[in-house]
Amino acid sequence: MADKVHDVVIIGSGPAGYTAGIYAARANLKPLMFAGAQPGGQLTITTEVENFPGFAEGIQGPQLMDEMRKQLERFDAEIVYDVVTKVDLSQRPFRMWVNDKAYQSKTIIISTGATAKLLGRDDEKQLMGHGVSACATCDGFFYRDQEIIVVGGGDSALEEATFLTKFASKVTIVHRRDEFRASKIMQDRALSHDKIEVAWDSVIEKIHDPEKNNVTGVTLKNVKTGELRQLPVTGVFIAIGHHPNTAMFKGQLEMDEDGYIINKERTMTSVPGVFAAGDVVDKIYRQAITAAGMGCQAALDAERYIEN
Ligand code: NAP
Repeated sequence: MADKVHDVVIIGSGPAGYTAGIYAARANLKPLMFAGAQPGGQLTITTEVENFPGFAEGIQGPQLMDEMRKQLERFDAEIVYDVVTKVDLSQRPFRMWVNDKAYQSKTIIISTGATAKLLGRDDEKQLMGHGVSACATCDGFFYRDQEIIVVGGGDSALEEATFLTKFASKVTIVHRRDEFRASKIMQDRALSHDKIEVAWDSVIEKIHDPEKNNVTGVTLKNVKTGELRQLPVTGVFIAIGHHPNTAMFKGQLEMDEDGYIINKERTMTSVPGVFAAGDVVDKIYRQAITAAGMGCQAALDAERYIEN
């Protein structure tokens, strides 16, 4: 077991993690950050970010995360480019491991974010990055004047479908039921768009063609009638929600039915001294700026907890 006990360990390196790191470092807490499997988080797989204040002309997602990393590195902080494999929140100091290497800390800020859900089909996996995408903002640009589908019926699917009309010639929303889960305003916006159609009660039967290493079309199945039909699309966008990256904390922290961490008092979780910020707690806003704001709150809460 490592002898050193850190004041603050931050797990995850998206906007919440970096902001927590910057605040903790400026409070002289010498935070240790584990950057995780995807350093920089979800923004590293997006393109233009136009709604993060301070960048009048917009900024590329990867560059924004690079700036946050450099800002943290200006201060006394350590970043470990590794994945925490286990935590023990039952003892003080808290303990965590990267494989066999152990670390100890008085407080932990969890900012492990969320990951896009996929359908789990073989053809989806084979064609991911070759016509199948889980990120409209990253890949929409490649589908100029082409026909595409968006799978899902929630706010994400409708928002992405509407966004994709900027590029695509036609967007078909493929939804497994006969009504959307999305908010009324999103529905109105999508359904009134002349480039958007909906395939109700429909699921993907097949994505063509893994052998060509490209999407050349899809076969849809109507779940009520069993009828099959072909759509000549070149892009398949999956927008069926996200799941929080919380598996490691199951049984140790209180979570909701979807696995999102529940903060009990401001950003403090059900275990005093453990804080959580960003998409790992927030399934409503899920924005870089809201995650960053929460990261700031978590660092201030951790600082106060240590002082007391
Ligand atoms: P969501 O609300 O959970 O919707 C997921 C959609 O995908 C549902 O329509 C669901 O169908 C469908 N789906 C799930 N698994 C599927 C599968 N295996 N095959 C086919 N379809 C499947 O997720 P979300 O749209 O990402 O939204 C998450 C949260 O973020 C919501 O609270 C939402 O309001 C919020 N959000 C807000 C905005 C905004 O306001 N601008 C934008 C995006 C997201 P069923 O309906 O049949 O279950």
